[in-house]
Amino acid sequence: MTHRRTARLVDFHCHLDLYPDHAAAVAQRERERVFTLAVTTTPKAFPRNKELADRTKYVRAALGLHPQLVADRAQELLIWKEYLPSTRYVGEVGLDAGRRFYSSFEQQKSVFAEVLSACAIAGEKIISVHSVRCAKVVLDMIEAKLPVGSSRIVLHWFTGSAAEARRAAEMGCYFSINAEMLRNDRSAKLVHSLPKGRILTETDGPFTRGESSEGAPADVKPARDGLAKLFSLEHEEVDVWLNENLRALLS
Ligand code: MN
Repeated sequence: MTHRRTARLVDFHCHLDLYPDHAAAVAQRERERVFTLAVTTTPKAFPRNKELADRTKYVRAALGLHPQLVADRAQELLIWKEYLPSTRYVGEVGLDAGRRFYSSFEQQKSVFAEVLSACAIAGEKIISVHSVRCAKVVLDMIEAKLPVGSSRIVLHWFTGSAAEARRAAEMGCYFSINAEMLRNDRSAKLVHSLPKGRILTETDGPFTRGESSEGAPADVKPARDGLAKLFSLEHEEVDVWLNENLRALLS
């Protein structure tokens, strides 16, 4: 049997660099063997994230340009493109049609279109995608810009309809699920309807509740425990299940 770096837990969307001590947050994830996709909100944050992640077994740095920052930072797309060849992981990218960010929606769409096109050309990227109040547009763009099978999409904190979730699953998307989603009956029902092979956990820390202790990264156990409850499984069974999904996604 080959020796695998089996993680204890999986946090496929966390902003480790937004904690007071970034290096300590990375070190904690490594020590606790939590496979963590450390997403970034601006490409300028990527080099430091990659430097820290490259010294670990369990942390990966993703290259992002957050849709909520596009109004002020669209020109950083040039930096984003410059770093793309140095990473397999992209995020946080996507669209936000919420009231606060809707004024930049057209600009967000042009940035996201370029992000997807660049990923399509580069190939084999794993992309953590934000889709607040615009699941349909996000899926339309992915369908139009990203050839099936080239790169893989993980929809982070998906809040679209059941029909949109089904469509996303048919397109091959994965879903990273946080504890907040499982506290809400409507979205828990949606999570229950997803193909089990497409589910991962996330914290979206520090943007969700569940900070374990002062300054430490959010705990992903509540998400894992929530899935166990929802699917009537033991915690250990969920860990095996999520590790299998992670392995399939990364393979
Ligand atoms: Mn996020």
